[in-house]
Amino acid sequence: MFLSAVTPSWQNMEARDYYEILGVDRTANESDIKRCYRALAMRYHPDRNPGDDEAFAQMKEVNEAYAVLCDSQKRRLYDLYGREGLNGVNPTEGVDFSSLFHEFGLGGFGESLFGSMFGQRGRQSRERRKAADLRYNLTLTLEEAFLGVEQNLEIPRRRTCTSCRGTGAKEGATSTCERCHGTGQFVRERKTGIGVFRQIGVCPDCQGSGTIIKEPCSLCEGRGLLEEVSELTVSIPAGVDSGHTIRLQGEGESGEGSMASGDLYVVISVEQHPVFERNGDDLYISREIGIAQAALGAKLSIPAIDGDATLEIPPGTQTGSMLRLHGKGMPRPGSRHRGHLYVVVQVTTPTGLSEEQKDLLARFQRLEQDRNQR
Ligand SMILES: [Zn+2]
Ligand SMILES: [Zn+2]
Repeated sequence: MFLSAVTPSWQNMEARDYYEILGVDRTANESDIKRCYRALAMRYHPDRNPGDDEAFAQMKEVNEAYAVLCDSQKRRLYDLYGREGLNGVNPTEGVDFSSLFHEFGLGGFGESLFGSMFGQRGRQSRERRKAADLRYNLTLTLEEAFLGVEQNLEIPRRRTCTSCRGTGAKEGATSTCERCHGTGQFVRERKTGIGVFRQIGVCPDCQGSGTIIKEPCSLCEGRGLLEEVSELTVSIPAGVDSGHTIRLQGEGESGEGSMASGDLYVVISVEQHPVFERNGDDLYISREIGIAQAALGAKLSIPAIDGDATLEIPPGTQTGSMLRLHGKGMPRPGSRHRGHLYVVVQVTTPTGLSEEQKDLLARFQRLEQDRNQR
């Protein structure tokens, strides 16, 4: 809904009447309009008036007049409400001037010039409204995150009705809205002390579609949308981590009419693992070893995320040491890189010793004392 204050003198300041610009009368038919447009295009076309700003402006005005009067819907809107009736609509949108000019034997004058002549307003009105995005929280185990998965998702969402293709009408049975004459817009005038307010809004009878449904679609009951639970398969790449998001464009909710569908965001969370701790691409595991293994060194079998790996404990390893198994961590999505597996070593003090073990340790202690006294 937009509100504009219009003073009586405003009409005169603003651009000329479209019929006047093309030099046709109000009853002119399509071929009259095209004939007059052709004559003006021959006169003002930029190829024939290089560098002439005046001619460029004329051409622009002529194009706009032609775009409105050659389109029965825009023309009806203009006849009823004047330029304000077209408010919010770019009149030249969707008109292929390039091929018209070719038809007249004129150059299409390069993309850049077309851009400056037609682009500005076109870009704004082409910005489509978008239906709601959806979020799906997907929880994976660390093993699934390591391998990557093809995950089936069940998404409850509103999608365009397949029976009526979103029109809401049974077998496409629609008629032109009588209130707005198919324009979808509706203008209300209000006189106040400072001028006339023209309020332009969406037609309340047809909600802006310009058409009235005669018989509603039985599948969607005329809403054009269906609540459904869709099954989708999403590929989760190997190496994803909590907080990673996968965007599936257009897989969110569908909207009414020409609205673009929203997107679906699959938000990953990876469960805590009973054995491994994760930090980015790296995994951590802790392992207890005896004092003899710590002192003499050893080879141990360690569970890695993709099977067992062999860890070499160097002689003289202290408790709390962190040993690295190169490339045994998590993959990084979209790369060949893999993180590492770090083994945190805890040296445990033996308990419940046999007599023989006690004798050996006592002897070990005496040797230590002798060595220190020397
Ligand atoms: Zn339907
Ligand atoms: Zn209407």
